[in-house]
Amino acid sequence: MSVVIRDAEIVTASDIYRADVRVQDERIAAIGEDIRAESGDEIVDGSDRLLIPGGIDPHVHMALPFMGTVSIDDMESGTKAAIMGGTTGLIDFVIPSKGDSLLETLDAWKAKSDGASHDYTFHMAVVDWDERIASEIPRVVHDHGITSFKIFMAYKGTLGVDDEQIFHILEATRDAGAMVNAHAVNGDVQFLLANRFAEEGKTGPPFHALAQPPRAEGEATGRMIDLAAIAGQEVYIVHVTCDDAIERIAAARARGERVWGETCPQYLLLDDSVYDLPGFEGGKYVLSPPLRKKEDQEALWNALRTDQISVVGTDHCAFSFKGQKEMGRDDFRLIPNGLLGIEERMALMYTHGVREGRIDASRWVELCCTNPAKIFGLYPRKGTIAVGGDADLVLWDPAATNTISAKTHHSKCDYNVFEGFETVGAPTRVWVRGELAAEDGKFVGTPGRGRQLKRAPRGVRREPVTA
Ligand SMILES: [Zn+2]
Repeated sequence: MSVVIRDAEIVTASDIYRADVRVQDERIAAIGEDIRAESGDEIVDGSDRLLIPGGIDPHVHMALPFMGTVSIDDMESGTKAAIMGGTTGLIDFVIPSKGDSLLETLDAWKAKSDGASHDYTFHMAVVDWDERIASEIPRVVHDHGITSFKIFMAYKGTLGVDDEQIFHILEATRDAGAMVNAHAVNGDVQFLLANRFAEEGKTGPPFHALAQPPRAEGEATGRMIDLAAIAGQEVYIVHVTCDDAIERIAAARARGERVWGETCPQYLLLDDSVYDLPGFEGGKYVLSPPLRKKEDQEALWNALRTDQISVVGTDHCAFSFKGQKEMGRDDFRLIPNGLLGIEERMALMYTHGVREGRIDASRWVELCCTNPAKIFGLYPRKGTIAVGGDADLVLWDPAATNTISAKTHHSKCDYNVFEGFETVGAPTRVWVRGELAAEDGKFVGTPGRGRQLKRAPRGVRREPVTA
């Protein structure tokens, strides 16, 4: 298995230049001018194309049991959709219920990840605090190579944890050589407002959004950053939606704290006017935190440009309209929270970021590929184009045009929140560890080929990750 990609414009987080790339077996073997092909090499013409590292989506939920149903994409359909959009790595969340063992839940997640067509790793959610969890955290890190944990400040009563529990989790994960992700929304406020709206008969999708105002997100973001600072722990705030949260993250980063923020395409491109759509259409857009105002979109783009926010993930957690979203037709509290994006992310960010002049192509790669790999300990094996790194590569046609539609997407979801969006730029070839996985809009990958990546504990000398 060897390929020479000729004359493509290579885009990494730091450089843009034209060169040849030779892939041997699963790795990038050489980068240079006029690389000599060896017998048996396949030659691919890369002129008029960009060559980028495969996207890494650090925030997805495949086959997640949640709110009385299960998110509709599993690892097989989810990684297929990913590859078709130019993404070749993901981080899924292992989410136990209160009272469950972390290690047993992890086993269940591993068992259902069999069908992945590209590599992946996990974040481990901690939704409770007790002796067993305390003893399992170091084993999750050292035996399983999982070095990022997740804390929910929202979802009071189910996944949510209080400040005392949060502090225990921050200390225990710090001591084990791991970091934390946080879903930062004030769970008490959200719980109270949502229930009050429902009691008053306000049961439609708009009230889902009104129950978690931007200040409730900003408050929790600031509190999490402060708790992490007191505990001496690193924290990554997932799915940031608004200025109230951005300003807390920016302030922490200006103080030199190990704090990062992530946002998602839906918060950059959709706004809360969709919750007022007639019938139950608004239910399709219910996710947490909710979509915000148009003004927040501009604040998020600015934050991406200035590195106040460092990553674009998706929070891909798809539920079909029929039979799933509909469960909350009479009560927004019962609408499964989440929507898709893993296939759409790279093209949406290229179209609305690079083509519209908000970010350059290197920053696009940095936000969608390199920073997720660096922050979560997969770099430099993943997330860039470098000799010795995995040959997860995307040949990108910067002029290709597409219209997003549920009729053509690869998710199992029966609708698409970006329906009708016109995109510029698309992958024409995608390689997963050196093996062609997509070609001219056709999936040719191998379900089951993806491996769970094991990451080295943080705070020690960086070692290569092992599969
Ligand atoms: Zn999520």
